[in-house]
Amino acid sequence: MGTPAHAIRDNDCLNTTGGRSFVVNGMFEEPGALEKYEASQADNDYIMAPCHVSSGAVAPHRDSVLIAVDGACRGNGQLDAMAAYAVFFAPSSRFNRSAILPTENATSTSQRAELSGGIAALEEAKQLTRPGLFMPRGQVPDMKQVVIKTDSEYLCFGATEWIAKWKKNGWKNARGRPVANRGLFQKLDGAVRALEEMNILVQFWHVPRKQNCKADALVNERLDKREQAVSHTRTQRRRNILILLFEEEDTFCSMYKDFLQDLEDHAEVRRGNSIMRALEYLGSNTPDAIIVADSYVAREINEFTVDLMVRMEEYVSAGGTAVFGCMFSSFMPMPDYGPFFNTHFGFPWETGSYERLTAKVNTPVHEKLPRESALVTVSSQKALCLKNVEAGHRLYEIVDGRPSQRKETPIAWAKVGKGWLGVSGDVNNEQVSQRAILAMCNLSF
Ligand SMILES: [Zn+2]
Repeated sequence: MGTPAHAIRDNDCLNTTGGRSFVVNGMFEEPGALEKYEASQADNDYIMAPCHVSSGAVAPHRDSVLIAVDGACRGNGQLDAMAAYAVFFAPSSRFNRSAILPTENATSTSQRAELSGGIAALEEAKQLTRPGLFMPRGQVPDMKQVVIKTDSEYLCFGATEWIAKWKKNGWKNARGRPVANRGLFQKLDGAVRALEEMNILVQFWHVPRKQNCKADALVNERLDKREQAVSHTRTQRRRNILILLFEEEDTFCSMYKDFLQDLEDHAEVRRGNSIMRALEYLGSNTPDAIIVADSYVAREINEFTVDLMVRMEEYVSAGGTAVFGCMFSSFMPMPDYGPFFNTHFGFPWETGSYERLTAKVNTPVHEKLPRESALVTVSSQKALCLKNVEAGHRLYEIVDGRPSQRKETPIAWAKVGKGWLGVSGDVNNEQVSQRAILAMCNLSF
């Protein structure tokens, strides 16, 4: 497999035709050849799509990405079926992801899971083309090709053949009935076209199940984890968590995907992505905890954000839990950070340092968390700290840094009326703050 990578549509390139179908062109006929090809790139963040060059060898396209997807459903056909999908880039890739299908709109099926996997893979591919806030530029240099590898005929032929037909005949199946899962197929088509509009060739590759075992393992791991969590919490009421996120939803979902999955494994999670909807929801619901995941409410002062903050203050003093964290500190003008909590919750907090510091858990405050929890004991984190915080409100205490920084905290936990206020200034989504936020929300992990 030593043949060097080349650009797609290089002179030597034999297979870039086939429209949305990936043309295998005699590659990988020998048993184990595909596995060997993938293993040769196993240390990378992603595996490049293979190409059959004129010499007869197989060589990767350096401007491409090969993504394996899989979907699975347990209890297929039943009302309480549980389905998940996985998107696999490489064994230790940070882009790998898996998720449980939401059950709000439709019963989970394996077909919905396969389609959702395809959609998620294409969305992830699009992220890799985008120079983003947290995604360094050029993850895939000048991406020109995305190949989705699947063992699902439903996904593969749906994307490569059926969608085009259905678009012409008004989404009718062979028996003249409406096509099942039309919404997901349209979303899939939209995701393909979004990449095609960027001059990226999107292709689907149908492989036997045994050649898709990495994605299969990832999806089953996700389902096992959810089953364990469900049986663990069966005796207890599932807690309701509201996440308020008004900006940068894509960035949040990609950066905090593991955190979101942990939350969803243990609680009913609702996302308020417009102020109006959040106000409406809070008008008739009392969540067990609210996570304020960005700083929109603190930066945009208008009648709606003011309303929402008043509602939050009432909610907390009546016994609720509000946690300001995730991207809250990332986009907050630094001087306003401490005073924001002063204005709304009456603490004399000010903005402290913003640098990487070592902090250790403060046991007396740890014991005030609603649930006995294994927090990270000592950790280095880059966080926007709060200054002027009394010891009884510092969940973590800084152990290095200057003496003046000893009264600062990266993570605060304080009683307000009958409720609780948590603040995490971590900007990198580190395990220390993830765990602290889950514990503040009274969730096991
Ligand atoms: Zn080529």
